[in-house]
Amino acid sequence: MSLLEVQELQTFYGKSQALFDVRLTVEEGEVAALMGRNGMGKTTTIRSICNLTPARSGKIVFAGRPTAGLPPHRVARLGIGLVPEGRRCFPNLTVEENLLAAARPGKWDLTQIHRLFPRLAERRSQSARTLSGGEQQMLAIGRALMTNPRLVILDEATEGLAPVIRKDIWAAIRTLKGEGQSILIVDKTLSELLPVADRCTILERGQTVWHGSPETMTPDIQERFLGV
Ligand code: ATP
Repeated sequence: MSLLEVQELQTFYGKSQALFDVRLTVEEGEVAALMGRNGMGKTTTIRSICNLTPARSGKIVFAGRPTAGLPPHRVARLGIGLVPEGRRCFPNLTVEENLLAAARPGKWDLTQIHRLFPRLAERRSQSARTLSGGEQQMLAIGRALMTNPRLVILDEATEGLAPVIRKDIWAAIRTLKGEGQSILIVDKTLSELLPVADRCTILERGQTVWHGSPETMTPDIQERFLGV
């Protein structure tokens, strides 16, 4: 059984249809990349998986459990840790308070997060508002991990960040993969994404148009669907 299985997803914003036929799977312990040019439906797919923008039809099964009709906090409690686009933390809480507010029992605790992101240890008593964009992104990832999720979803986690911070975040992603953490990731940096991905799904205009391993993604496919 796959950890996450998404079939024939159709999602609307009001009358406007954003997803027409999205299919993807994430196996336990795997890094799955969700790819496609701007506006093709990656964020909407993630929002549908989390029931933030519920799908109108199709099927989403997480850890054997259909998620239809569950409110977002219940989907999260099934074991999905979302790091949304544009990182959201509580600006007036300290770094440590932000992490502890998300905590659920499991392997990931403050010590483990500090090991993954030493900068968050250095800044533990600062309010989140005073962090750089990259540090806030680390905090957003740390918060998702503190829920001890079975699946972490990263939506453009490295976008718009300084190169040194991007490097740190990719290193953290590789560490997570090495520890067997299941991850669904959207990111535009193919040179970092492809080496870490076990499988790729490409969306075009709200439809899955290709899926396969990164090794089988030819330059032709990249040019056709990703504009590389
Ligand atoms: P990007 O890489 O630019 O974030 P994406 O692949 O994540 O793109 P989505 O953000 O999922 O794409 O957008 C898919 C489609 O849905 C686009 O046509 C977009 O204009 C539309 N859309 C996204 N959010 C909304 C919204 N809140 N209301 C109406 N339409 C939306």
